[in-house]
Amino acid sequence: MDYKFECIHCGQRMSATDDLFGTKSVCPSCNRPFVIPFPNSTRQPAKRMSEEVIYTDQNVSVTTSRLIISETTYALRNITSVKTTVEPAKRGCATILVIVGPLILFGSIVNEGGANFIGGLMIFLILVGAGILWFIASKNVYYVSIASSSGEAKALASKDRSYIKKVVDAINEAIVRYN
Ligand SMILES: [Zn+2]
Repeated sequence: MDYKFECIHCGQRMSATDDLFGTKSVCPSCNRPFVIPFPNSTRQPAKRMSEEVIYTDQNVSVTTSRLIISETTYALRNITSVKTTVEPAKRGCATILVIVGPLILFGSIVNEGGANFIGGLMIFLILVGAGILWFIASKNVYYVSIASSSGEAKALASKDRSYIKKVVDAINEAIVRYN
């Protein structure tokens, strides 16, 4: 028998047969992942009946019983903790450029004037300019790290710290509400 329900993201009307309840699918309208809900009329565990969506975006779905990130579904009952971890940006090479640039300029001033100085100045500007741009472009990478009985996994990565924090907060809220 077909069961009708709505996409949790965009409200698109869909239907599914009972063998698909609780499985993952992608909305044909908005292309976002979701879990086909159990209809209230069928027998189901009490937890599922009260499943609530806490947070959702294009990649992430957090409900009071599960977590879907990209293609992976995590059952909340298996998650022991969740936190933000940081991988600092690699700025070593940018530092070297900014240090070497002035040295070349200094070398060209000490050795000779004229053409050598102009060349040294150009190299200086290019190296220091590249070093500064590199500094600006390099950003820390933040992860949603999920600990479960099978170990710790970096479930989601972003350079946007507030986005990662938002997802971590939602998962924490889901864990609290699940228990
Ligand atoms: Zn949709």
